Amino acid sequence: MNKPQFRPSAHTSAPTADQAARRVARPPFTAQPQVAAKPFAAPHAQAHPNTGATKLRIAVLGGCEEVGRNCTMIEYGNDIVLIDMGLQFPDENMPGIDYIIPNVSYLRGKEKNVRGVIITHGHYDHIGAIPHVVPYIGNPPIFALPMAAGIIKKRQTDFNTTPLNVKVTKIDDVLQLGNLRVSFFHINHNIPDSAGIVVETPEGTICHTGDWKFDFHPAGVPHADFQKIAAIGSKGVMVLMGDSTNSDQPGHQVSEKEIGETLGNIIEKAPGRVIVGTFASLLSRVKQILEASEKLGKKVCVMGYSMKTNVEIAKELAYINVKKDLFIEETAIDDYPKNKVVIVCTGAQGEENAALMRIANDEHRSIRIVPGDTVIFSSSIVPGNEQSVQRLKDTLYRKQARVIHKSLAGVMMDVHAGGHAKQEDIKLMLALFKPRYYVPIEGNHFLLRENGQVAESMGWKPENIFIVDNGQIMEFKAGEGKLTQEKLPTDYVFVDGLGVGDISEVVLRDRQLLAEDGMVVVIATIDKKTGAAVNPPDIISRGFVYMKENRELIEDTRALAKKVLVGHKPGTAESEDVTRDKLRNDIGQFLFMRTERRPMIIPVIIEV
Ligand SMILES: [Zn+2]
Repeated sequence: MNKPQFRPSAHTSAPTADQAARRVARPPFTAQPQVAAKPFAAPHAQAHPNTGATKLRIAVLGGCEEVGRNCTMIEYGNDIVLIDMGLQFPDENMPGIDYIIPNVSYLRGKEKNVRGVIITHGHYDHIGAIPHVVPYIGNPPIFALPMAAGIIKKRQTDFNTTPLNVKVTKIDDVLQLGNLRVSFFHINHNIPDSAGIVVETPEGTICHTGDWKFDFHPAGVPHADFQKIAAIGSKGVMVLMGDSTNSDQPGHQVSEKEIGETLGNIIEKAPGRVIVGTFASLLSRVKQILEASEKLGKKVCVMGYSMKTNVEIAKELAYINVKKDLFIEETAIDDYPKNKVVIVCTGAQGEENAALMRIANDEHRSIRIVPGDTVIFSSSIVPGNEQSVQRLKDTLYRKQARVIHKSLAGVMMDVHAGGHAKQEDIKLMLALFKPRYYVPIEGNHFLLRENGQVAESMGWKPENIFIVDNGQIMEFKAGEGKLTQEKLPTDYVFVDGLGVGDISEVVLRDRQLLAEDGMVVVIATIDKKTGAAVNPPDIISRGFVYMKENRELIEDTRALAKKVLVGHKPGTAESEDVTRDKLRNDIGQFLFMRTERRPMIIPVIIEV
């Protein structure tokens, strides 16, 4: 049904010594500052014996069991391309974790094969892991359309890692990456320059939608390129990998035009200032707010570093076309009548340091909430942030602001509802591509299933719909596909402050333990000759019990520690370990019996 689209090209170069050395010198996932490495001059083919045994392997490294950390790997012989390199936000059970990035352990030792990272669009769940991953997988070229490329480059200046090799790509470019030929097709989303990816391989063609919707009235970009999509489909598509984010919703996705009109109405009718909290990356929305404000003769103050940066990039690329005098500085807000001012800022997720939170808490240097202000939450809540958003709303209501969120404005204000294909859109995409195999991606498991059912309803056989877990390998040979049980590593890789991957599940468990039950430190000072305790052991508790009110418990703990120490034989590391373990176990058990809590026990033995 699907014949190979083209023959492999001739292969010439082998990995250079420089590349090999870099591979050894650069352990994946350390937090140390990196020395500048020479990026690949150009993607090139590697010698690869086409014995006929080569299989095309596809695995989704992130994004199939969650929303976020999107990353797909396509491997054919010695050629690997990655589509997207996103981050995922942590949930409440991950204290102190900034975000989670795709696990690329499989690429260790295969860095020389990675021909490129192809980016679908500039949202952080598709590009956010780049600074943390790309320098460690051989620094391959990153191919991205102008908007995404601009955001990637700007963001990289915030990180002190190897300079990236970002190749600004045009929608009609065709890239020959080893035996894989990569091209793009324009689709709609809620940020300009959103593209789907086509990867032609000797075994058949793969299409990847990225995040998408069909929109006949998008904001500042053309509607999806139906002609190109149909042309790709008519040549034969082996695999379509499709966005599942809204696959559980019937009907068509709403157009950016409707969203813009809703926003425009709210801004027009607002009696006082309008403060819009949204994502910095939701540029279609930001564009519409700016344009509506200009039309209504209002002035706009853009707040927040990432918001300002993205608006600048979009202006440079002419995606946002408004007059310069539309914008006002923070300090000039009070120079204008209240009903002439619109403020666009970050912080709709209740993020502590974002502008909206600081404004609500009277911590912002130039603006306070006053009665009559209208605050619009123009983004859906990222799971895990519900409570902080609720607190933020409470604060705003307390200050008598009008608060407009999803339940008032309907789905139109919802970032995720606004940008992703619903069931009828998915059907049209399937009809245009007519893939032999359909692989739902980008969503929790239930969303992948819902997406699969859309294809089934149109006659795709269940065996041609692959519902995969992260890391699960799909194999294709001459147009025939197989979902294997082989799994690549996909354990969480956490980013914590500046460190990447140095936080393991064990560290996270410790943090959860500390957060739940606190800790008890037992300090025993021991005579190194006799092994006798020099002083009674010190017991220190943090986050466990208030010591002053629990004298008896602390004294009993001290007595128990003393008893354990009687058996201590000084002088060897082994005996120190034994004593430490015994202190940990006995005191842990004792405290659990008395309090039904399990604080972390930290025994410290000092021999003097
Ligand atoms: Zn997106």
